[in-house]
Amino acid sequence: MKRFEPCDCWEPGCFRCAVGFAILRLGFSIDCNCFANRGTPCRNSCNRLYLDWASAFARASPPYLEWARRRLARSGLVVNQAFVFNGHEQLDVSEEVREGRRLTEEESFFVSLRQIEDAAAKELSVEVEQDPVSFDAAKLLVASAIKEGRPVPAPLRAWAYGLITGETVRPVAKGKLLGATDARDRMICMLVQELLDAFSLKPTSGEREAGTSACNAVAKAFALVGLAPSSYEAVIGIWGKRKKHMQFDSRAD
Ligand SMILES: [Zn+2]
Ligand SMILES: [Zn+2]
Repeated sequence: MKRFEPCDCWEPGCFRCAVGFAILRLGFSIDCNCFANRGTPCRNSCNRLYLDWASAFARASPPYLEWARRRLARSGLVVNQAFVFNGHEQLDVSEEVREGRRLTEEESFFVSLRQIEDAAAKELSVEVEQDPVSFDAAKLLVASAIKEGRPVPAPLRAWAYGLITGETVRPVAKGKLLGATDARDRMICMLVQELLDAFSLKPTSGEREAGTSACNAVAKAFALVGLAPSSYEAVIGIWGKRKKHMQFDSRAD
């Protein structure tokens, strides 16, 4: 039996189209045989999660190595180049942005960032003693500096000495780490919102698991691709906290 029978009416309110849409947004091709028959992914890799989803789910799981990778990637970033398009030409505002010029929503701009290893080390060094994720991120930074023949950044040298000699130990996290599912839950809320916009479904349903709301569509899509949480109750729990999940948080990783 096929995993999922797609509908392509794309009518407002069509639950089956909404489930298909959610599956597509996760990275799977509902029309491909490899997805329909639960086979090995074909060459188009249409039977596996998109990287951003896979990363958000991996970030939520102990021992949080993916979270540490993301934190390291986000540390010590400075503006490399910034351009603003004024309708006729693009202006290089890199210097101004580095000095604090703000880019506003009304402007059309492009910004590229660059990582300064010393700055990343400094940011992480403040947290290595309390935060197991920053501890692991700092470990990755120090390890790659050593492996690639660069000096260990000064802010982490004493700490790295303790790490190698065994005097320094990873701060203990009891149970699940606070905030571990934040990135995943944020993506779930954005997906529910997309379904509301695209299909005019109700966000939640009085029929709970048997309903045809946007939260039901997400739960159904997760169940069909084998992701947890796949229950309606879990998804509405996350959607209920959307204000918290969807606000911008520069320390989200
Ligand atoms: Zn349909
Ligand atoms: Zn395929």
